[in-house]
Amino acid sequence: MTELMDKIKKRRTFAIISHPDAGKTTLTEKLLLYGGAIHLAGSVKARKSNKHAVSDWMEIEKQRGISVTSSVLQFDYDGFRVNILDTPGHQDFSEDTYRTLMAADSAVMLIDAAKGVEPQTKKLFWVCHRRRLPIFTFINKLDRYGRNPFDLMDELEKVLNIRAYPINWPIGIDGHYKGVYNRLENTIELFEDDTSHGAKKLKSTTGSLDDPKIRELLGDELYENLCNDIELLDMAGDEFDMEKVNTGELTPMFFGSAVTNFGVEPFLERFLQYTPPPLPRKSDIGDIQPEEPYFSGFIFKIQANMNPAHRDRLAFMRIVSGAFEKGMEVWHSGTNKTVALKQPQQFMADEREAVEEAWAGDIIGLFDPGIYQLGDTLSGGPKLHYENIPVFAPEFFSRVRPADSMKRKQFQKGITQLAEEGAIQTFIRTETGREEFMVGVVGVLQFEVLEHRLKTEYQVDIVMESMPFRFVRWVVSTPKPIDQLKLTSTSGRAKDSRDRDVLLFENEWSIRLACENNAGLELAETANRK
Ligand code: GDP
Repeated sequence: MTELMDKIKKRRTFAIISHPDAGKTTLTEKLLLYGGAIHLAGSVKARKSNKHAVSDWMEIEKQRGISVTSSVLQFDYDGFRVNILDTPGHQDFSEDTYRTLMAADSAVMLIDAAKGVEPQTKKLFWVCHRRRLPIFTFINKLDRYGRNPFDLMDELEKVLNIRAYPINWPIGIDGHYKGVYNRLENTIELFEDDTSHGAKKLKSTTGSLDDPKIRELLGDELYENLCNDIELLDMAGDEFDMEKVNTGELTPMFFGSAVTNFGVEPFLERFLQYTPPPLPRKSDIGDIQPEEPYFSGFIFKIQANMNPAHRDRLAFMRIVSGAFEKGMEVWHSGTNKTVALKQPQQFMADEREAVEEAWAGDIIGLFDPGIYQLGDTLSGGPKLHYENIPVFAPEFFSRVRPADSMKRKQFQKGITQLAEEGAIQTFIRTETGREEFMVGVVGVLQFEVLEHRLKTEYQVDIVMESMPFRFVRWVVSTPKPIDQLKLTSTSGRAKDSRDRDVLLFENEWSIRLACENNAGLELAETANRK
């Protein structure tokens, strides 16, 4: 095997998707603990709880700080090079969260055993599903009372319309699980009680299902229960089919507790074994395989002014093919020119590091002199363009203007910058008789970020007025001019930043009605960026 192939095959690049409080931070930290990137769990947690003590503004700064340093975390485990992409899932839920999934090869869907599938999990799931990304499910918080594992399987099917194949099945009684049974390997792993409050790895005993030692450790009752569960799963459940996993039709399911480390290592091991190595990406010259001999990649995230003293801007790139070397000169789709990739950075558990080389599957942060746009391609081979990264529908809208009309120019500059980062989207509504400038965001915290950044980075105070719309849909085709469409009185019409027609709605019911009342009207939830 060539060195290139060898490096690529070891890489696993994924994102964890979840609803706030399901335990993403905790699980990420435990993966780092098992990966040896940190030695005692607790550091990430501590940083996070400090955050609640500070003021709102600082909160935003900190939020940005966190999403910066942890845009991607890298560690080695069992011969794999693991890249975890950070998908902000808290109040700073934003378009970024969706876009980050474009850089992943699979997703881990983290679910709180007591709560089941929650709204933000659902939204993120659909973004993954549309891309046919393999999705692995980790049911968390098994150290507490939760819902029955069979119920949770059922819920995945009912709510998300995906079948689940439990690879690791919990053994024991709700709230007091003792271990997990691996259905593919017919092995059992029993965990010792957690005595370090999750700070250290858990000790465990492994054996096969018919091992008398295991049976004795379990006791007759639990053993019987387990055998019944297995029989039920085998009878009523799906077969394990990697092809279905790879196309996102079947989700391998795991159970555990991120807090006590129960089930974390068995999950990590199997997940790395089954999740795909770097996948090809679509381009205008066909699918580009990771092992192509030339370097190429695309920009999926831009973050400016991370350091107020320097006004720097970082562009995050997913490497799709070949090998990257610091300082290399490559073609850039946005300017159609050759650029030198200087000052590349990678992110280890806690700090930024300069990178000398990286490979397909890796994510690196590039210093951006202001030339990169979301979705741009960089290539050391042919001049190719990677598939567009779509613009996702915002869910909150406000009229926005500078408080001081003399500051209009600065205001425009700031708005443009934030729109380029994909933090906000801009719309103009004309039907009210005058031009109304509107900003749309995916997560409501982005309005605070907007206000704060315009003030601190562009010295502009703004006036914002929130609007009742919750949905925007791009008009793909329409039977008649937009202003003649029959819409409910609370719906709106506007243009996006590329002058495309959009409709604005307060609820899903009005969307349905718009389609019913205007035969031939076709609406889309996402649009092309370019
Ligand atoms: P995030 O919002 O998804 O990043 O969630 P966190 O990792 O911050 O966890 C949210 C809360 O759930 C915290 O209080 C955690 O201590 C708790 N938590 C996380 N994992 C577990 C778990 O496995 N069991 C229990 N009981 N609590 C957990």
